[in-house]
Amino acid sequence: MDFSIARRNMVERHLKARGITDQLVLETMLQVPRHLFVEGALQSQAYSDYPLPIGEGQTISQPYIVALMTASLALKGKERVLEIGTGSGYQAAVLASIVSKVYSIERNANLARRARLIFDRTGIRNVIVKVGDGCLGWEEESPFDGILVTAGAPAVVDTLKYQLAVGGRLIIPVGPGREQVLKCLTRSGENEFQEEDLVRCRFVPLVGQYGWKDANSS
Ligand code: SAM
Repeated sequence: MDFSIARRNMVERHLKARGITDQLVLETMLQVPRHLFVEGALQSQAYSDYPLPIGEGQTISQPYIVALMTASLALKGKERVLEIGTGSGYQAAVLASIVSKVYSIERNANLARRARLIFDRTGIRNVIVKVGDGCLGWEEESPFDGILVTAGAPAVVDTLKYQLAVGGRLIIPVGPGREQVLKCLTRSGENEFQEEDLVRCRFVPLVGQYGWKDANSS
């Protein structure tokens, strides 16, 4: 299978055709080898328009959602970004091709280890992965220019809002059940935030102090 053709089709059919216009995001997703972030048997489906299992009951998000979340951060290239939910490492790899440094938190140690291995193998050096509860953010490294939460939360997590730099954006799926609304919060002042609803989406649950109690409680 020619993965570069599959990647081009993905960008044309699933991203551009659905309204993703951010050139940095489109060019990056044309380059990042998504098939290396899924196991061998699923590589031929890596550029398809749906999420895929990555083990431990978790998923790599659909390419369109990765593009939409990344584009919603309105990145220019020099930012420091926090991701909650490293999973396969693909979203972090997309961010890492655009920004200076990515901080990524994963609660599952096996997934964190697997993602670190893929970053090493693919020569990605500007992602730092920590095992822990992403609901608490990464205080010592804050403020961040952008924060992406790649698991569904019961409500906007205030701790994360306050780890944004002024002007920074938090992208977070919020909802009472398996379906959420993807929200974009912009910190416009010390205590001022603008909130916008982007699209309806479906993420696995954010499990932690300000998330759900366990993976089945959402
Ligand atoms: N961004 C990932 C990718 O590119 O493959 C997809 C992430 S997957 C949809 C959601 C991830 O969030 C899972 O790996 C899950 O273990 C993780 N997760 C759930 N709750 C978390 C929490 N409180 N802190 C950190 N990671 C969490």
